Amino acid sequence: MQTSLEKLRKFFRLEHENGYSNNAIIGGLAKMLDFWEGEARADGIQEEVIQAVVQRLRSYDGLSPQSRADALKGLWKRIGDTYPETQQKTRVPPAKGEGQTQSRPPQPPPDSASKRETPRHEPREYKPRPPATPRSENVPGAKTSATPAALDAKLTVLQGVGQRHADTLARLGLHTLGDMLYYFPRRYDDYTQLKPIKELFYGEQVTVIGTIQSIHSRPIRGGKASIIEVVISDGTGGLRLSFFNQPWLANRLKSGDAISVSGKVDQYLGRLVMNSPDWEPVDVESLHTNRIVPVYSLTERVTQKWLRNLMNQVVTYWAPSVVDALPESIRTSARLMRLGEALLQVHFPDSQEKLQAARERLAFDEIFYLQMGVLRQKRDWKSVEARRFSVPDEWMSARLTSLPFTLTSVQQNAVKDIRADLDSGKPMNRLLQGDVGSGKTVVAALAAGIVTANGAQAAIMSPTAILAEQHHRNFTNLLKDILRPEEIRLLVGDTPESEKEAIRAGLANNTVKIVVGTHSLIEDPVQFADLQFAVIDEQHRFGVEQRAMLRSKGNNPHLLVMTATPIPRSLALTLYGDLDLSIMDELPAGRKPIHTYVLRPQERERAFTLIRGQIKDGKQAFIIYPLIEESEKIDARAAVDDYETLSKEVFPNLKLGLLHGRMRPDEKDETMLKFRDKAYHILVSTTVVEVGVDVPNATVMLIEGADRFGLAQLHQLRGRVGRGADQSFCLLIPTHEDKTENDRLQAMAESNDGFFLAEKDLQLRGPGEFLGTRQSGYASSLRMASITDVKLIEKARSQAQKLFEQDADLSQPDHALLAEALGRFWGEGKGDVS
Ligand code: ADP
Ligand code: MG
Repeated sequence: MQTSLEKLRKFFRLEHENGYSNNAIIGGLAKMLDFWEGEARADGIQEEVIQAVVQRLRSYDGLSPQSRADALKGLWKRIGDTYPETQQKTRVPPAKGEGQTQSRPPQPPPDSASKRETPRHEPREYKPRPPATPRSENVPGAKTSATPAALDAKLTVLQGVGQRHADTLARLGLHTLGDMLYYFPRRYDDYTQLKPIKELFYGEQVTVIGTIQSIHSRPIRGGKASIIEVVISDGTGGLRLSFFNQPWLANRLKSGDAISVSGKVDQYLGRLVMNSPDWEPVDVESLHTNRIVPVYSLTERVTQKWLRNLMNQVVTYWAPSVVDALPESIRTSARLMRLGEALLQVHFPDSQEKLQAARERLAFDEIFYLQMGVLRQKRDWKSVEARRFSVPDEWMSARLTSLPFTLTSVQQNAVKDIRADLDSGKPMNRLLQGDVGSGKTVVAALAAGIVTANGAQAAIMSPTAILAEQHHRNFTNLLKDILRPEEIRLLVGDTPESEKEAIRAGLANNTVKIVVGTHSLIEDPVQFADLQFAVIDEQHRFGVEQRAMLRSKGNNPHLLVMTATPIPRSLALTLYGDLDLSIMDELPAGRKPIHTYVLRPQERERAFTLIRGQIKDGKQAFIIYPLIEESEKIDARAAVDDYETLSKEVFPNLKLGLLHGRMRPDEKDETMLKFRDKAYHILVSTTVVEVGVDVPNATVMLIEGADRFGLAQLHQLRGRVGRGADQSFCLLIPTHEDKTENDRLQAMAESNDGFFLAEKDLQLRGPGEFLGTRQSGYASSLRMASITDVKLIEKARSQAQKLFEQDADLSQPDHALLAEALGRFWGEGKGDVS
């Protein structure tokens, strides 16, 4: 049975066993569609069947249990009509024998890790268990070959965690014990420096141990609150502790008790005090004080102390029993801590050195697994055949001489790389990285030219209709010597149905050679006669599945993905190691670097003056706002509100256009086109203009609320100007004067170089955020690794490389655990970046 159907069966069965309570998958059965649809297509399941599943599951949540049962049964029967083999009652245990024989084991959905194994044999496994103390099999040393099932257990197995607590913890993404182990502290407070009271000084963070001398409780603020004052002494001096609004402490603290307190030393009426410090009786193992204390991110109804206690419970019992999948040989040669020890030390470090070692080990794993997957993917891609495409040098020269400019040397290199790929007999998988304005379009057009000159077809997918239209125009222009306009077509959502029909027919009979479009290309039932080349522009705007879908419209077509988000080499190698990389880090000659200034809000009038001057010289300007409407929460200036003021009061004699995300796509396009055709002097807009639109006549980019944007975004926005030969300006105005020192704004003023800014951005934020949500498929699995740690990356990469050369399939017995762990790491959604 196809893997995707097998999966359906498992979850349906589980759902049946759970009384149709829609909890076979966390978040509901519909969640399964996130991964299932793509898998089913990959399995070649008929589209009608896929749609039937999608529809039933989408509405599943709203049904009563009885209707749910009917829905699933009906659905399964429907599947049986097409795939009779699914109706046989097989008795093969699903966890064994499945997957291990394939090169990439089918992955269970990430949320359902706890249901991975043998649902049919032990259905009760998967129901929330009543609170219980850890059982003896779960204690240290109890190793099993798989991830110990214990790590997949729900948090309700923990003492003191009921369903309500479990729900709260789920909000932190904590569902299983394994999740807890990998929920790393946000930071640590180091209280290891025990000090005598007489040596304390104001402002320091310390732990002291002392005996309680006195306890006084008194009401404050007219009885609305209370304060408890405790004096402790350690023989060298006394220290006053104040606890606000914790009246119960009066019963917990007794004169003569020894306690350890940790906190910041404050001052009150000339004496040193501590306000609401963390405290513990000293005979308790020092969990909250007197050590390096982990500090976790919290959510409502979870206190630091409670979570820390819980974590301690989990870590002490389970960390040591975690199986270390990394082969011993690699562990020793890379000089890494054992996994169990690392998980222990990362939460409750014995020392800074051990903490460091633990972090290194955990970070190593992340990069190592990533690399192994990336290497495997690259091999898989290279293992299939692709058609060869080549053109004589004279053909290329003829194209180049007909261009309105000469290619930059980096463009020439990219073209050379692509020519070699197309003629290699293996499918091209190339990432073309080039800063905004570096001229990627012409490179893609030349490549499409090579393919179509050999009789095959090409498709170009852009994230927006405006961009698609722009590309269509450029392609038609650049390739006018070799293709007639009717051979290059534009297909977007708004294309009239009759025209779509014609395009579909043309693509099916190979009279249309190139189609440029948006996601319509994959949504539309277009069929290509011979698609051999697919280009994805602004690839970070697309999901992984969408890219795979475009590719699946052809038979191992060559693939070029383009991005204007410059990714530092270390990151690119790690995240996109499966793609070949062409970098265009040089702009066409004659571009003047954009002059960038950070202005204080009260200097806004200067910005307006500059804009007026530029417009007088026949130029145009962008004014960008972070939000659409004035929001109550943040006082960012909003496009809609200010558009009125700007057009009536500030620039009464000029024509202003307004563009924002709440407009219909055709309205947006219209406004954008009017701006390009100079019907407006100024375009007031939200960030919808961010991606790729080319208006060479625009020379000013004014960004309001600039401190609210990310560095990459600011750079992209700035890239909208400086596209012509004239001097362009970028003016950044933060929301408040005190934000003018903002690191990102200063970096912008300092440099025009996208790669420099990307490095900077990475340092300022983590890789996950850096890449944005859509693209973070890979990077989100990097919780510990810092992508700026090139040394560690190199170490992990070289170890992975070595292992891969030795045993690419991890089929040797001592790599079996690793193969399993790798399968888990490469769960859903990380399998394909192209
Ligand atoms: P991006 O890499 O941001 O997609 P485009 O392909 O849109 O950049 O090119 C930006 C502008 O630069 C376009 O107007 C294009 O015609 C022009 N251009 C591209 N290559 C060159 C070149 N070698 N010399 C001069 N202008 C160029
Ligand atoms: Mg572009």
